[in-house]
Amino acid sequence: MDVDLLREHLADLGQPGYRLGQVWKWAASGAPGFAAMTNLPLALRDALAERVPFSTLTVEREARARDGTVKVLFSTADGRPIEAVLMRYEPGAARGGGAGSGREAGRRADGRRAGRRSLCLSSQSGCPLTCSFCATGRMKFGRNLTVWEIVDQALHFRRLSEIDHCVFMGMGEPMMNLDAVLDACRRLPDLGITNRRTAISTVGWIPGIRRLVQEPMPIRLALSLHAADEALRSELMPVNDRHPLPEVIAACEAFYGAKRRKVFVEYVMLAGVNDSHVQAVALAALLDRRIFKVNLIPYNPTDSEFSGSSPRAIEAFRFELERRGLDATVRLTRGRDIDAACGQLAASGTPGDRDHGA
Ligand code: SAH
Repeated sequence: MDVDLLREHLADLGQPGYRLGQVWKWAASGAPGFAAMTNLPLALRDALAERVPFSTLTVEREARARDGTVKVLFSTADGRPIEAVLMRYEPGAARGGGAGSGREAGRRADGRRAGRRSLCLSSQSGCPLTCSFCATGRMKFGRNLTVWEIVDQALHFRRLSEIDHCVFMGMGEPMMNLDAVLDACRRLPDLGITNRRTAISTVGWIPGIRRLVQEPMPIRLALSLHAADEALRSELMPVNDRHPLPEVIAACEAFYGAKRRKVFVEYVMLAGVNDSHVQAVALAALLDRRIFKVNLIPYNPTDSEFSGSSPRAIEAFRFELERRGLDATVRLTRGRDIDAACGQLAASGTPGDRDHGA
């Protein structure tokens, strides 16, 4: 919902100032449309329904996995594809998403604790960075999303379910669209997602990390590392040439220094590329165990040249990190039966999709 547009139309309709808050409160608590906003005069509900699109996004496809994961391919008003995912965890199975607090939040109507319900949101349509293993990186870059296009991804899922965690790990590089991402973070608490349960994941875009250090909202930082060695990292992530690893690590350490919150390191496990014993030792040597926590990500196969490390190789790598004192977990794979990895739905070109230029 474009709240700026809504504000204009409410003023145009001569409505009192408190209407905006009333409408937003309904939307943020999952109302399916203006018609459901029963404390608004009927004529106003009708007028708004005519003038203001309830969402800035259109659902193009929705895929539901057996594990409860829901992935949606949206399009913006100008036809750009974006994806977002809802992951629901059973109570006690809350580990594995990597960027949440790990604590279960919320209670069901019967008073028992519900599992974590975590969103993965996109910040851009496509991505200007070209990480070689990533499906989004191989799509054509579209544009930055607006704050309302980000919030509308979350509102869509809020209409399906309560939600309590959020990671910016969908399409795009959030640090390259940080104003809109932070504006969205100011709205998310109204939907049930506190800033403490929100994480921004970055390739290591230093200006963005530095801004997050200054930012009063207690948002978590996650770093996509994928290689401890400069040459390999530049090969996998060309952005490493622009923001070299030692400077990225120093920026993350400054984040910890200011916030006292651990930085999550994402490390996608690529068979024969970055998963050897020597590389685990190098990773453990690079990362200060008081500051970083590693989340090993099983690779979701795309049509790239890479294949994922075996579960055995991942476990051996994790064991080596832990043996050297580094906190390391393996991300639970969610929604694999629905192509839930970054960029996969938009890039799959399934009939019914628009031409996404992938
Ligand atoms: N641009 C940001 C956020 C989006 S990507 C960043 O890079 O952090 C979110 C995470 O998914 C990144 O760690 C990315 O490297 C990882 N990823 C991309 N493609 C993947 C795939 N096919 N399988 C597993 N993880 C993938």
